Amino acid sequence: MMRVSLRLARVMGIPINIHISFLFILPFIAIAFGFTALPDLFGYHIGFGDLPVGDLEKLFFGLVAAILFFVSVLIHELAHSYVAVRNGYVISGITLFVFGGVSEIEKQPPQAPGEALMAFVGPAASFIIGLLLLPIWLALRNENGLAITVVAITTSMMSFYNILLAGFNIIPAFPMDGGRILRALLARRIGFMRATKVAVAVGKAIAVFMAMVGFFYSIWLILIAIFIYLGAREEERGTTISMALEGITVEALMTREVSTVPPTMTARQLLDKMLAEKHLGYPVMDGERLIGVITLEDIQRVPAEFQDVTLVERLMSRQIVSVSPTTPAFEAIQTISSRRIGRLMVMDGDRLVGIVSRSDLLRTLEIKAIERGTSTGRT
Ligand SMILES: [Zn+2]
Repeated sequence: MMRVSLRLARVMGIPINIHISFLFILPFIAIAFGFTALPDLFGYHIGFGDLPVGDLEKLFFGLVAAILFFVSVLIHELAHSYVAVRNGYVISGITLFVFGGVSEIEKQPPQAPGEALMAFVGPAASFIIGLLLLPIWLALRNENGLAITVVAITTSMMSFYNILLAGFNIIPAFPMDGGRILRALLARRIGFMRATKVAVAVGKAIAVFMAMVGFFYSIWLILIAIFIYLGAREEERGTTISMALEGITVEALMTREVSTVPPTMTARQLLDKMLAEKHLGYPVMDGERLIGVITLEDIQRVPAEFQDVTLVERLMSRQIVSVSPTTPAFEAIQTISSRRIGRLMVMDGDRLVGIVSRSDLLRTLEIKAIERGTSTGRT
């Protein structure tokens, strides 16, 4: 999902990307901002719909407001990133999405120190922007003249949407910031794992409630509810896995005695080898050099009558996905599931030192789950 995005700029050394979905949604937001007019929404003036100008001008003002809105989202994310960097985390980038922004915090340990503050500063920044714009709007709202009215409406909208953004993100449900704040506060009393479980349950309950209300009032609320529900589930899974694999590197899990095949082996010979050794994938070595990976699926493409004459070289995948022995096991799992592959080559420089498979990782996870189940846990 992260891959289809464009590099926009760098702020504080952090790459700012825009996701492709954002480019699709931008015109719709520009149209919504340009052509609606909601003069009495909590006293705010939202939208350029009732300005005495042509459609093209409305669209232009709407577009400017839409861009300013996403600048607000960016400031929100930068606030998170700033505290994260201060806490010693590496931010690999900020990506702007349909739903707002996402900061990709690299190497975030499961029990992040300063997580509450890190989560809090985003909504706080949005709220402060909203608050600071309020007096400007109030000063300009009764002035005459087109230019000043446009500025007044834009200020009003930005104030409104920033406060809305703060309010939405403070909802105590994953994946919103409020979910993280709730978990961090709970974790001090009941431990990280139980805090995650409680925060996830609260998030799911809020999602179900929202969906029920949405059923009667608004389809948007249902969509947001689904977003929250999936976010809560994702957080639960991610936390469980990363906790279980905390401190474990690929080196501890990999198979060292790697059985390899030469590129000149036939498909039939390889099938016999698979049957004998009960492995479903092999690195293909040309002497000391790793040149590809061959799996059972690759061979399945060859009709039985050609198995004797088709060489591994022609069937193998030349795209080698590798990790180093020091790669955290959690990252290896993420790579395996995001690339949809069964095994990773473990390379020390350009030397193949092992293989780590999906089943190696899952087995470790299961054992760790049992270990945790028998211990009393952190309190
Ligand atoms: Zn946030």
